[in-house]
Amino acid sequence: MEAVRNAEYTLTTRNGSGKFEMNITKIFGENCLSIDTLKERLPKSVWKTLKKTIRDNEPLEHDVADAVAVVMKEWASEKGATHYSHWFQPLTGATAEKHDSFITPNQGGGAITSFSGNDLLRGEPDASSFPSGGLRPTFEARGYTAWDPTSPAFIIENGNGSTLCIPTVFASWKGETLDFKTPLLRSTEALNKQALRALQLFGGEKVKWVNSTGGYEQEYFLIDQEYYYRRPDLMTSGRTLFGAKPPKGQELDDHYFGSIPDRILSYMLDAERELYRLGVPVKTRHNEVAPGQYEIAPVFEKANVAADHQQLTMIVLKKMARKYGLVCLLHEKPFAGLNGSGKHANWSIATSKGTNLLEPGESPHENMQFLFFFTATLKALYDHQGMLRASIASAGNDHRLGANEAPPAIISAYIGEHLEDIVKQIKNGGATSSKKGGLLGLGIPVLPNIPKHAGDRNRTSPFAFTGNKFEFRAVGSEQTVSFPTTVLNVGTAHAIDVMTTALETEFAKENDLEKALATVLKNTYAEIDAILFNGDGYSDEWQVEAEKRGLLNLKTTMDALPYMTTAKNIQLFEKYNVLSGLELESRQEIYLEQYFIKLNIEAETTEDIVRTMVIPATVRYLNEVLALNDRGKATGLDISSTKTLAEEVNNVLSQLIIAVDKLGKVNSDLGGDTIPEKAKHLSQVVLPEMNKVRVLADNLEKLVADDYWPLPSYREMLFVK
Ligand code: ADP
Ligand code: MG
Repeated sequence: MEAVRNAEYTLTTRNGSGKFEMNITKIFGENCLSIDTLKERLPKSVWKTLKKTIRDNEPLEHDVADAVAVVMKEWASEKGATHYSHWFQPLTGATAEKHDSFITPNQGGGAITSFSGNDLLRGEPDASSFPSGGLRPTFEARGYTAWDPTSPAFIIENGNGSTLCIPTVFASWKGETLDFKTPLLRSTEALNKQALRALQLFGGEKVKWVNSTGGYEQEYFLIDQEYYYRRPDLMTSGRTLFGAKPPKGQELDDHYFGSIPDRILSYMLDAERELYRLGVPVKTRHNEVAPGQYEIAPVFEKANVAADHQQLTMIVLKKMARKYGLVCLLHEKPFAGLNGSGKHANWSIATSKGTNLLEPGESPHENMQFLFFFTATLKALYDHQGMLRASIASAGNDHRLGANEAPPAIISAYIGEHLEDIVKQIKNGGATSSKKGGLLGLGIPVLPNIPKHAGDRNRTSPFAFTGNKFEFRAVGSEQTVSFPTTVLNVGTAHAIDVMTTALETEFAKENDLEKALATVLKNTYAEIDAILFNGDGYSDEWQVEAEKRGLLNLKTTMDALPYMTTAKNIQLFEKYNVLSGLELESRQEIYLEQYFIKLNIEAETTEDIVRTMVIPATVRYLNEVLALNDRGKATGLDISSTKTLAEEVNNVLSQLIIAVDKLGKVNSDLGGDTIPEKAKHLSQVVLPEMNKVRVLADNLEKLVADDYWPLPSYREMLFVK
């Protein structure tokens, strides 16, 4: 079967000319309205004003929007687009689109096409079914979307036509935000403001703005679609709710970085080609640790654009899989007993001059600056561990964090040996020497040397410094990167704010920036050094040690979500105008509701599969064994071992029938009227029953004849490529 599939699907990737075209420089961005195209097509004066909006975040003028709309429609029409859509990120974590045609009927009974500045700037989706966490009573259910000129518009193609997609924010008519893009943009502005303030103290080059950068690595699984359609659990909940451990899993490590199977590679090339055309700079691909698991990573961009591109990447990965007879699984834990999937959020701070503020520099001045921003990020992590953990809380991610898998639920930072040594020296009041060679001479008496490109690796840390950026590894593979990035941005903005004020005070006393900085850093580390941990994050000792240090260990969604609305976090978000307390409460409620709905679907699917597939299959098989038993008796053949087998099957089957009845009972009980009550019922009462049912069903999978078993096995799903 495998060989046939490979040949077949490699052929489908070839176009009419018999050749798969992949001229990257030619196709890159052809389906994305790039800055260059806008510049080329817009009148000079209009372009100048728009540029200020795009590059320097200045407000957009209405006549500019009109001119842009004309160019956009013209460009989109050339690409075959007949419709446009405001493309936004509702609080489900995915993206949403509502398509409108460019058509306007005219008086003569014909039609023209049109698209105005108003159409571009604002849309009114009747979006009453998106979650709003109680922010938007249904009588004013309509929300509005508004253009984000800092993220390029793009074309989504379909065999039968194309649609112009315009990245937008989404809010209620009262102005409450109902999406993930708005807070991300606002947190970027907060970071910009505070970082510019700090940079003034350091002098150096003049910069116009500061932005956070994001490079988001995506892990995913691919399985043959034939198996997918035969697994109701995958279809309803995105993960297998059953499945005995296969004789071969990931123990051999023979898949990781191995050569990529032919059909998979054809798929990857096609998906990458699509992403290039959309202007998404994907760069790296490889096999991941688990069989059937892969990774794709882009070149980093401004975080807002990178977050939109991350959503597009998920869309294209899923869509393209179908063309190759595959299904792309983005769930955090599709297969029990194998590694789950995450999304590594690489994060840094960059200036309008292109300087990476988390890159140790060549000069003493640059290194002081580096130490300042590096320490501010660590302070943000320490101060807002709970909020960061809450921003990535979900039913799916609970299978990774706190469940013996990468990374642990405890938020800590790995900074490598060199920097740890430097932090130690700072805490001891500054030093002139450094432990390792290969360092830059700083030549100042107070601050120690900084290593350049300390490339140490620690795979068990949720937040690792990797030489010139931090890598937040706890984001789930299916989740939006916008919210955790927002928390990093606003948390760091706050830390920079506090540390800049302290630095100003010290500087006024000492009139020596280096000494002032040394004092500020020393005081900061005295507060936050519990967050630094270079050891093994998976060990039991770390659980004990972290508790001693007073670090949070929020193992589940239910543990983490309360932190979204603690006084400290509301204060943080309100102070920097990112989200109001009410908006945070609504997000907390939506996260909880999503959690509850997902678990409920899983629990009901578990019950359904057992009753309608697992039990009937087992009964049929048992019937066959018993029939042999009877015939054995009739012929006088010794069939005592068959009887043992029947007893064994019957024993597990009886237990399963009792267990699924129990699951059915707790499934029909809601546990209360409110969302928190229902979520608690699901996590504390239903989930344990569901797990018991699974163990029994998985035992039966190992006893019942393969041709009777109704669900494709792990072996088939993971190893047929
Ligand atoms: P590794 O994680 O193995 O060190 P890379 O250096 O290739 O590998 O980086 C991995 C990801 O980090 C890539 O997606 C890359 O674009 C991103 N990245 C690199 N530098 C930055 C940065 N300054 N800001 C944000 N992301 C970055
Ligand atoms: Mg990485």
